[in-house]
Amino acid sequence: MSVPLLDLMAQYASIRPEIEAAIRRVLETQQFILGPEVDAFEREIAVCCGVRHAIGVSSGTDALLVCLMALDIGPGDEVITSPFSFFATAGTIARLGARPVFVDIDADSFNIGAAAVRGALTDRTRAIVPVHLYGRVADMASLNRLARQANVPVIEDAAQAIGATDAEGRIAGTTGNAACFSFFPTKNLGAAGDAGLVTSDDPDFAEKVRLLRVHGGERRYFHRFVGGNFRVDALQAAVLRVKLPHLPAWSAARRRNAAYYRERLAEAGLDDVVTAPADVPGHIYHQFVIRAQRRDELRDWLAAQGVGSEVYYPLPLHLQECFAALGHAPGDFPNAEAAAREVLALPIYPELTRSQLDCVVERITAFYHGPRNA
Ligand SMILES: *Cc1c(COP(=O)(O)O)cnc(C)c1O
Repeated sequence: MSVPLLDLMAQYASIRPEIEAAIRRVLETQQFILGPEVDAFEREIAVCCGVRHAIGVSSGTDALLVCLMALDIGPGDEVITSPFSFFATAGTIARLGARPVFVDIDADSFNIGAAAVRGALTDRTRAIVPVHLYGRVADMASLNRLARQANVPVIEDAAQAIGATDAEGRIAGTTGNAACFSFFPTKNLGAAGDAGLVTSDDPDFAEKVRLLRVHGGERRYFHRFVGGNFRVDALQAAVLRVKLPHLPAWSAARRRNAAYYRERLAEAGLDDVVTAPADVPGHIYHQFVIRAQRRDELRDWLAAQGVGSEVYYPLPLHLQECFAALGHAPGDFPNAEAAAREVLALPIYPELTRSQLDCVVERITAFYHGPRNA
């Protein structure tokens, strides 16, 4: 049996006629840029996310970029964020000439917390960008409290956390000043290409993002701001409208898979070598990420056995070559560096069968305890 890390064909097979009809609908109108599909998508996803304003954009990266642009962030400014995330979280800050100020993650949530952020606030801090890594929402209650005290906006990088909720049951993307989502095909809600979203309850901020999305002009050829082409394609909006109603069931299936893994890993007696993610309510398991001893060997072994896995992320952002000028060295953020050495994402997608999940646990057990115990 082989178990891929992700099988997008399995999802497509379950919704093929709806997807094809949606794409045909757009083709029949030849309206590819903004228009009714995008309007409808934005209305529908705003309801799902429980936010007033949703603005479809070209990618999760551009969602981050346009939010920072809407805050006029630029040279001389600092933005506090996580060193343990996808590159775009910090890349967008640097692209605007601002400085990404990293603070270490908490070892068990993989997210940044208020205590670390407090220590990094300066009079140049212009925003805080927490990441809801792997689909687990950061401790937004304390981060927001701190941000309010410091009078600094919070932009949630919710690219991996659509539909996730925090400890108080509040939906990712509704508690900060604005949030960024990605519909990269492998995300929990994936488009048929690149797409992203900005959400906010602040009408002025939302309006500015809408303008920046179309080169900063209300009327075509008249420009209030220097923006960009950050529009979501109508074709992507149509595909996402089909998938959106399925998302709650897909998230529930991911949670079921996570619970089953946790149970089976505990039974396998691997506690001394493998740590499963904590069981927190509201986690939507964009990834199910274990910490594993001899992680790289385990990954090679699983690959040889037909089990897909991935390391998100092997090198923390503060140690990336492109950020050498920030002057960081190994040891600056020990939790992020340990995570980079130890994490391994296992297959968790909704369509996995019980026997596939069993197979993954058996292969892991065989690696540590020998095939007899598998
Ligand atoms: C995927 C992702 C992004 C970027 O989204 P794209 O749509 O690929 O541009 C940003 N931040 C995080 C945490 C992500 O996982």
